[in-house]
Amino acid sequence: MKNKLLNFRHTREVAQKVKMKELAKIGACPFCPKYLKPYHDNPIEKTGQYWVVTKNDYPYPGTNHHYLIIHRKHIEHLKEISKPALAELADHLKWLSKKYKLPAGGLTIRFGNSDYTGASVAHLHAHLLVGGIIKSKNKTKILNFPIGYQK
Ligand SMILES: [Zn+2]
Repeated sequence: MKNKLLNFRHTREVAQKVKMKELAKIGACPFCPKYLKPYHDNPIEKTGQYWVVTKNDYPYPGTNHHYLIIHRKHIEHLKEISKPALAELADHLKWLSKKYKLPAGGLTIRFGNSDYTGASVAHLHAHLLVGGIIKSKNKTKILNFPIGYQK
């Protein structure tokens, strides 16, 4: 079974949904190079052979940094990532960490059928998120990132 390119169940913001509806009308993937440039608002900060690095247009609430590292070729599953692509991903992560002097953070890659993962776009991409620091044990909210649903 082919995965959905876009999963509207997992959109979070109105502007994101509007943009995705436009893309769905023309059967386009927002992260494929042809559509990334016209539909992604933030500039591409770095382009490698396998990935591009950019800020998320719709950062998760409470993040200080939210980057997307998007595989350039349309793939959707971990089994499609090559070893050289993984090595390059590591280089991009180190570059981001150094450039923005990231003190800490989290890295996620969701893959496959987005009905399992909470992703809105099936095209494989990594998220690098950096939140804040705990200020009050009872009042500081945890930064949540959906990775899927409980079975
Ligand atoms: Zn794509």
